[in-house]
Amino acid sequence: MVPTLRWTGLMLLAGCSMTDPSPFAPSAAVAFTPPPAFELWWTATEQCSELRGSFDQVQWYVVPNVETFDGGAGTPVVGVWSAVDGAIRITVAGAYQNSELVIRHEMLHALLGQKGHPDMFFGDRCGLTWDRWQQG
Ligand SMILES: [Zn+2]
Repeated sequence: MVPTLRWTGLMLLAGCSMTDPSPFAPSAAVAFTPPPAFELWWTATEQCSELRGSFDQVQWYVVPNVETFDGGAGTPVVGVWSAVDGAIRITVAGAYQNSELVIRHEMLHALLGQKGHPDMFFGDRCGLTWDRWQQG
């Protein structure tokens, strides 16, 4: 049913933005303080996208001990980004809490401030999709 693991990943990322405007975060999500690496990833994502945003504005949540969670509409995802009433929240599955690709992918959503995956940003500029990432 699922052709390859890689395709599965692609599907999961593709679903990551489908939660706007709710749920704000899954009920199992817990807040965490971003490690120093996140700030470097944020800067790198700003540079490749040529967008600017405030790292401190982002609230980080993790759903512990899972590889995916329900991102809304029954779609299993590895991460979601949401912006509700001016608050930016990124929630990731525990298995991907230190994944540069997943974290920076959600960061790019936050910088863009919109749903969807415009290829100019996610593909050409930053390469923050599963297939582009693996091609290096
Ligand atoms: Zn996405």
